Amino acid sequence: MPAKAIVLVALLALIGPRTALASSPATIKVDLRQAPQAIFHADLSFPAKPGPMRLAYPRWIPGDHAPAGPIENLTGLVFSANGATLPWTRDPKELDQFEVVIPKGATRLDIHLDFLAVPAIARAINPASTAATDTLAVLRWHTVLLYPMGVDIAQYKIEPSVLLPDGWQFACALPAQSSAPNPSFAPVTLEKLVDSPLLTGRYFATYQLTTKLPIRHTVHIAADDPADLVVSTEQQQALARLALEAHAMYGSWPFDHYDYLINISGKLRERPSIGGQEHGESSDDTGGPGVFTTATGKESVGDTLSHEYSHSWNGKYRRPAGEKVHDYQQPYDDSLNWVYEGLTTYLGHVLAARAGFWSLEEFYDEWANEAAAMNCRPGRVWRNLQDSATSLPTLMRAGAGWTSWRRSADYYPEGALLWLDVDVTIRKLTANRRSLDDFLHLFLAKQPGRDPTIKAYDFAELVADLEKVTPNNWALFLHTRLESHASDAPLGGLTQSGWRVTYSSQENAFEKADEGADTVSADFSIGANIKADGVVQDVIWGGPSFKAGLGPGMKILTVNDRTFSLATFRAALDETAATETRSAAATQSVRLLISNGGPTRVIAVSYQGGQRYPRLERTGQDTDYLAEIAHARSPNTSLNTSPNANPGTTSNAASDAHTGNAK
Ligand SMILES: [Zn+2]
Repeated sequence: MPAKAIVLVALLALIGPRTALASSPATIKVDLRQAPQAIFHADLSFPAKPGPMRLAYPRWIPGDHAPAGPIENLTGLVFSANGATLPWTRDPKELDQFEVVIPKGATRLDIHLDFLAVPAIARAINPASTAATDTLAVLRWHTVLLYPMGVDIAQYKIEPSVLLPDGWQFACALPAQSSAPNPSFAPVTLEKLVDSPLLTGRYFATYQLTTKLPIRHTVHIAADDPADLVVSTEQQQALARLALEAHAMYGSWPFDHYDYLINISGKLRERPSIGGQEHGESSDDTGGPGVFTTATGKESVGDTLSHEYSHSWNGKYRRPAGEKVHDYQQPYDDSLNWVYEGLTTYLGHVLAARAGFWSLEEFYDEWANEAAAMNCRPGRVWRNLQDSATSLPTLMRAGAGWTSWRRSADYYPEGALLWLDVDVTIRKLTANRRSLDDFLHLFLAKQPGRDPTIKAYDFAELVADLEKVTPNNWALFLHTRLESHASDAPLGGLTQSGWRVTYSSQENAFEKADEGADTVSADFSIGANIKADGVVQDVIWGGPSFKAGLGPGMKILTVNDRTFSLATFRAALDETAATETRSAAATQSVRLLISNGGPTRVIAVSYQGGQRYPRLERTGQDTDYLAEIAHARSPNTSLNTSPNANPGTTSNAASDAHTGNAK
């Protein structure tokens, strides 16, 4: 034994190894090697004192806005101290809290747990919260975390590390201190850990975006099929422009690097579209096969990536006071989600256009679809926009069926229409000299340059910042729209821009993408939404199908005496439209043979007008503020992407790129 080691052993004997261990930080080690079997193992260790100790499994998850912690999949719990197993009890009223008694002489509590990364049947919220396939996984730390009750998640630090399956690469917004297969990270606060998911997979690609900004933007993709790792040069350029346009729009940076973490798997998402969840320095997006390589994915790629990116400003850096909490067990006050999600939905649409993901025509189509959908919400007469935000956790649990009466997460699309109204109103009041961008520079940039400190906001601050842009009694403006029980959606942004919603027999591309190949949306004709197998997904409250007695869950067997298919259904709608040869003889109704338990029966839906899908139509010569809003702001149009893009690579380039970011 070398002399130095002997001295160390003597020193340890003197101060006692337990003292040394007790002062070391909490640790969490996650073993993902059984991820393909949907099993994540975790070992945690916390400094502890003798006596009762209470631990909690995170319940209220940031970004979910709801008590969505998947406690039902927490299994295999073992608490121990000094190698001896400890008995534990669960709080019979707070089912995500556990109590153990730390024995005398012990200075740490060790915990083993197994998280089952399988979907919960009843979990409508973020159904992809358990992402694991044969070739990729997403580690969302809150799923494998127990933490001591009473600590402040913004202060309490924990040291994370992960064990990956052989040959898998990874990316994470936290700077890694070691590479695959055993990445480790410096101690971080619980808040930062839960905000920093880790993407890992066998097939992995990394694209470094060149934006001429002093902030590194990187796209990481793990896909079940290597063909899905390809992001075209045009899409990379749009992502680079997104950073420039966001900078021009918001005027600040809440991060010093940003990582898009994207998993693409047919197991996790069937259609070529993408959904995501926001984090301060990264996204966590789940796409279906073909999302980057087919035209169908275009709407959601532009919208979702712009939306989640914008959340770094609105939602993460600036956050409603009711969602700025000290632990994960306190319920949120969700009443400002028409700002957190509604404003971000608006920003996502605008940036999708400004960055060039969408054409101006597609921007118009998106607003047509959103305005028409929110005009089909008779439930507004009892539940206003404000209540759709306030009751978010209950609405997130709702399935399909009578959505137009119950309402849904309408604070997204109706919130976006509200913010369009705000933007256009500012422009009209100031002869187009000011816009929502001026408000965002005040509201989303509370100090110049980079500001990494979370700052809570409330209604009063929001109104005060709007008044600074242009006086307009904004409190009244907002209250009127938030509390409206009118049958129509707040469409002032469209009408003041010289647009109105009208209908044609042709779907626009975005509506087709939303609808998918397996459903037909007849919301705006007979007032129903039907799946390819004939099952009625939903019926518009008060519409022609509602009046005829159709309801969600019924199955249509025949339509006008022909076997039901999406084609025969569309043809039956067409037959109700007057044409040159059929003006007088157009069918007056659509006859449906339905099964709903009991004997089959015929329902006749009284309707004329053919297929109807929304689009925008000019109403006059008013300034087209929609076109003004969609116009790119950033003067820096000279963009290129780095030649370092390495789709399909099997090297460690991804993790290397990441470890290079030790800031
Ligand atoms: Zn969002």
